Amino acid sequence: MTGGTGGLGDMDELYEAIILDHYRSPRNTAAVEEPDIDLEVNNPFCGDEFHIQLKVEDDAVSQVGITGRGCAISQASASLLAELVKGKSASEVESAVDAVRRLLKGEEITDAEADILGDIEALGGVRKFPVRIKCALLSWVGLGDALRDHLAK
Ligand code: ZN
Repeated sequence: MTGGTGGLGDMDELYEAIILDHYRSPRNTAAVEEPDIDLEVNNPFCGDEFHIQLKVEDDAVSQVGITGRGCAISQASASLLAELVKGKSASEVESAVDAVRRLLKGEEITDAEADILGDIEALGGVRKFPVRIKCALLSWVGLGDALRDHLAK
């Protein structure tokens, strides 16, 4: 830790609690049968590896399963992603992926996007640790690309 929280101490604690909760109890880790989207993502710089499976029915994500291992940030991020995408339409997922990318780059997100992201805003705390940004974005970028490929078929 570099010290000097700039008055954001309480917020950081909240963020940390959300990350730790998802790290310790990841959501949606069951395998999906006959997935429409099935991809592996990895971040060799950190050793994060995840297997992401989605079932897409009537243009909405009906099932999601994410398994794998990695650092706390990458695992919490994957769990938050799993929780968010369930029941969302493809375009909603794409907007969320885009918002998360901008959040982690330190760019503005709209109030509407913040509402959609909810707890995922906790990932924004990772910006202070640039080496962890790849960990936080890993599953999001992978899913965003896979979803675009799937829709293009
Ligand atoms: Zn990592």
